[in-house]
Amino acid sequence: MIDKSKRNLFRRASSPFKSYVYPPYFEKKEDFLKCIECENKDCLISCNEKIIQIENEIPIIKFGINGCTFCDECAKACSKDVLKLENKKAKLNCEMIINPKKCIAWNQTICFSCQDICEEFAIIYNGMFNPVIDEEKCTSCGFCISVCPTNAIEWKAI
Ligand code: SF4
Ligand code: SF4
Ligand code: SF4
Repeated sequence: MIDKSKRNLFRRASSPFKSYVYPPYFEKKEDFLKCIECENKDCLISCNEKIIQIENEIPIIKFGINGCTFCDECAKACSKDVLKLENKKAKLNCEMIINPKKCIAWNQTICFSCQDICEEFAIIYNGMFNPVIDEEKCTSCGFCISVCPTNAIEWKAI
């Protein structure tokens, strides 16, 4: 039984669920309520990329240093079936865009940092400049965010 005060705290703090990005193995966001009762937080320890953080008792993805490799380790580590291999998604629950105002390649300086790291070939240039992200190919892994020198790649949880 989940402690009532903890549940209320969780609801206040994590509402709406929409504003967070989660490891790509959940079925529905409400399942993260079970994390309140999880003491070990094994998903956190299992992530070699160190992109999982615990916020208000639940695991969320924080971009900036690394990205998600969809390696399955967090799902394998979860003992409460919040994260399960059978729910594996091909994309994190967010969308990425390149902000032309911050991007130096949109401002006539040569830079291919994001394209170089993208294994999905999801970043398309118009010649040398004006990169955009192809949403069809992008997995929202976040690796491009970690290499952009001007923090021009922004994301929105969906
Ligand atoms: S799939 Fe792998 S890299 Fe992605 S959050 Fe889980 S443990 Fe981390
Ligand atoms: S290991 Fe599973 S139950 Fe525990 S915090 Fe992580 S996702 Fe939640
Ligand atoms: S978030 Fe998308 S564009 Fe960026 S590296 Fe990952 S797949 Fe490529």
